[in-house]
Formats: sequence, structure tokens, C-alpha cells
Amino acid sequence: MANTLLLEIVTPDRKVLSEDVEYVGAPGALGEFGVLPNHIPFLSALGIGNLHFKNGGKSYYVFVAGGFAEVSGNKMTVLAEVAEKASEIDIDRARKARERAEQRTAKVKENVDWARNQAALRRAIARMSCRESGSQAGTC
Ligand code: ATP
Repeated sequence: MANTLLLEIVTPDRKVLSEDVEYVGAPGALGEFGVLPNHIPFLSALGIGNLHFKNGGKSYYVFVAGGFAEVSGNKMTVLAEVAEKASEIDIDRARKARERAEQRTAKVKENVDWARNQAALRRAIARMSCRESGSQAGTC
């Protein structure tokens, strides 16, 4: 029995990660789920949030937004619409994105796409917490 699984994270633009890992926790559209080596085949849509994985006893964090995760043959493939390792997150950009979303929420205005604004706010908050989690774990 293998004691690691291969984790691959790709977006339409690039390969974000390809690593043997000990555990993956991912933000499924219906809630967080965990994957250990030798997991049964599994498919889930992804929400907005932080995927984390363990390697060499350390925790690593990756922001993901939308897409799918598939587990098959001791490999987990994440096809994300957007993904960034914690170390790649520009915290000032995320902070500004959060401020813009909060300002749109505060003003009573017509022509605001509230669902889009809510998704932008959730992305910004998740990016900030991803960077923070990575810093606390000493892995970004
Ligand atoms: P912004 O309003 O700052 O563009 P956003 O949430 O609308 O934020 P996305 O549509 O999710 O941005 O992503 C567009 C591209 O920009 C993607 O390639 C994504 O990886 C990158 N990106 C967005 N925000 C950040 C960030 N804070 N740090 C690093 N890359 C980012």
C-alpha cells in the first residue's frame, strides 16, 4: 500500500503543482473533504477556498476557486478555474479586491451584480486566509 498520493493542480493557464503528498483537504462545492493515499475513485466540484496538503509532516496551502477534483489510481487531479500557492498570493492585491467588494456592498446602488460581488469578496477573503495559513505553517 502506498503511503503517499500524487497531487496535480492545473488551471487553464498553467500547471500549479505536481507532488507526492501524504494527505489532501479540499474545499468541495458541498463542503470540505479529505483524501488519503489509496482512496477510492471520487469526483467533486470545487468551491472557493483553500486546499491544503501535508508533505514531510508540514502543511501547505493553495487557494482554489471553481473547477473539479478527481481521485483515481492513487492520484488526485485538481482542474481549477483559478489556483495559486500561498507563496504566490499578492496580499495587497487581495486586500484591495476585498475593499472594492465591501465598498460595492456598502453602497446601495443599482447595476451591482450581487452574486458576482459576493464571489469576488469570498475569493479575496480566502486568498488572505490562505497566505496567513501558509505563513503560520512556515511554508510560504
Ligand atoms: P482581482 O480583482 O484582484 O483581479 P479576482 O478575484 O477578480 O481579483 P481572479 O479572476 O480570481 O481575480 O483571477 C484572475 C487572475 O489573477 C488569475 O490568474 C489569478 O491567479 C490572479 N490573481 C488574482 N488575485 C491574485 C492575488 N491576490 N495574488 C496572486 N494572483 C492573483
